[in-house]
Amino acid sequence: MRFVCRCGNMLTNQLDPNDTEYYVYSDREWSEFEKKGWIYFLDVPDPKYDVWRCEKCDRIYLFKENKVECNPKHLWKISS
Ligand SMILES: [Zn+2]
Repeated sequence: MRFVCRCGNMLTNQLDPNDTEYYVYSDREWSEFEKKGWIYFLDVPDPKYDVWRCEKCDRIYLFKENKVECNPKHLWKISS
């Protein structure tokens, strides 16, 4: 998948590994994994949310569960 950040940087997860896509789980989800004894990484399911970070501007995009759709659900930009 490719996505153009608002800063103009092209984001993609086509390279593996990459520094764009993050695997994020809630604390509750992670606790459930621990209860089930999932310690091998292949046993851990894909996260509910697809989170991408632009390396150039630090914007964080949160995509719907359907990774094919390129419309982010939410966008964060830290202002300083
Ligand atoms: Zn950007």
